[in-house]
This record gives sequence, structure tokens and C-alpha cells, in this order.
Amino acid sequence: MSRKPVIALVATGGTIAGRADSATDTTAYTAGTLGANELVAAVPGLGDIAELRAETLFRVDSKDMTPGHWLTLARRVAELAEQADVDGVVVTHGTDTLEESAFFLHLTLTTDKPVVFTAAMRPASALSADGPMNLYGAVRVAASPAFRGLGTLVVMNDRVYSARHVAKQHTRAVDAFGATDGEPLGWASPPTLARRPARTEHGDVPLAGLDTANWPPAVEILYVGAGSSPALLAACRQLGAAGAILALPGNGSMPASWMGEIEAAIAAGFPLVRASRVPAGAVSPHDGLPGLLCADGLSPVKARVALMLSLAQADPAVFVRIAG
Ligand code: ASP
Repeated sequence: MSRKPVIALVATGGTIAGRADSATDTTAYTAGTLGANELVAAVPGLGDIAELRAETLFRVDSKDMTPGHWLTLARRVAELAEQADVDGVVVTHGTDTLEESAFFLHLTLTTDKPVVFTAAMRPASALSADGPMNLYGAVRVAASPAFRGLGTLVVMNDRVYSARHVAKQHTRAVDAFGATDGEPLGWASPPTLARRPARTEHGDVPLAGLDTANWPPAVEILYVGAGSSPALLAACRQLGAAGAILALPGNGSMPASWMGEIEAAIAAGFPLVRASRVPAGAVSPHDGLPGLLCADGLSPVKARVALMLSLAQADPAVFVRIAG
């Protein structure tokens, strides 16, 4: 007789674990109130599809997540995934910065077992809370052999996304998540892989070899609007940033007024990435400025994760490998 899949569940907080005073209140609530066992108890039938090993690692609203949390979370998930009888790991998280945590784990974990993030837009106390169904779907995907070897995944609203392309795309809608390259990878009910990701960068910067002595390198994102001051870049360098991402208009278009500061930064060896404010599509490489890094299809927040890992390894090629 085949055994039930064993799924480790790591709770980190967020709205999925949030509570409000009233069932109709979906905005004034405290995130990260419930622990992992309470999340599991709210999903009827979960114990029928898997043996759950649940633990509460953090109780944070994900707006307060830091790169230090990413590291602690990645280490714990790696330990759990190494356990021979664990088939997959589910991480519950806040929606605000989920895509950054998930991408960090995607790049640093080398396990072939599915690591699946999920979250909720409505607190656990709300009418039609979305968390229980999202958690049910995440456990099914984590237990499914079809999703092995794809790195870190995200299940929201029945869809399965790769951590590379997932993004929160709406501030309040229940269907808030989408993929920057178009379609989801598949579906959670039943677990179905509709397409394989085009790239397999998961595990590109293995956690075991990561130099964390100076973690995290201070990498900032500068959002460039029409007429924004290039003094932002100079200020960023003066404040001691280790690198910066430029969230530029269009296809990573650099305003003429910024060129002097951009060239000065590159000449000084300051790691600088050309990314785009546009939510979908890739930035084309720029021939004219050797030394300027190109985010390709990475969003500014994901380019930041990649540059931080690249700086931690003191190797610009790491960024190029991840982005390109
Ligand atoms: N602020 C919350 C968080 O990111 C929002 C959510 O989870 O939906 O933790």
C-alpha cells in the first residue's frame, strides 16, 4: 500500500494568518496572528491528502520581511527538504513581498522536491477567505511528482506559477497574482503541469556555497519617472549602497538627464542594473555602455535579489547568468 505524501509546512505570517474583528472586514486586520497548526486546522480534508508537519517560523506581515528572513527561511526549508521522508515543502507567506522571498529560495535551494509558496488576500477571519483553498492547492502541488525539479513555485487562486515570473499585480483583488511571461505553469486542482518553464535557473546560487558574512549587500531600487532627478543615483552611492537597480521607463530607456550620473557610476565600478517599470516583457541589452547590467526579464525587485546574490558571491557573472 502506498503511503500518504509527507509535506512540511512552514508558516511565516501574512494575511493568510491574519485576523480581523469582523468577518466582513478585509482591510483592517492584523497579519500573522495564526500559527501553522491553526492554518492546517482550517482546511477540511487536508489530512486526507497528506501527512502535514507544520511549524511556525515567523509571524510577520511580509512588508516587514528582510533579506535576513529570506536566509533563515531558505536554511529551514533546505533542512526540511533534505529529510528523506519529506516529499515537498509548503511555505505560507504575506502577499506583499512573496515574490522576493520565493525568488530568493528559487535561486538558492538545490532540492528537486517541490517548494510551494502560498498566501491569501483575505484574512482567515473573512467571509470567503481565500487562504484555506490556496493552502489546499499548495499541498496538492507540493505532493505531486509532476512538479518536481521546477524550483520554487507559487500557488494562488488555483494557478501554479514559477517564482521567476510570479508577481502581485493587484492591490486588493482576490485574483491578485499573475505571471510576467503570460500564462501560469499549471493548475492546482487537480495538480496539472500545463507547460515547463523556459529556464531552469533554480539552484543557480546554492545556499551551501553562499558567502553570508556580509549579507545583505545594500542594493536599492531607483524608480525613474518623467523628469526624476538623477541626483537620486548620486545620493544612493553617497549613502554607501553596494549597487542599484534602475526601474526605467519602457524598454529600460535611460533619460538623457541621467546619462552623466549613470556613466560616472559605471566608471567608478558601481554595480548598476537597467530594469524596466513595465510589468511584462524583457529589457534589451544596451550596446553602448559596457559594465551596465541588464535585467532582461527580471522585474526590479527580482533583479535586486539577483544582484544581492551576485554581490554576496563577489561575481557579476552570477547576475548575468540569472538574468540572461
Ligand atoms: N500586508 C500583508 C502581508 O504581505 C498582505 C497579505 O499578506 O496579503 O503580509
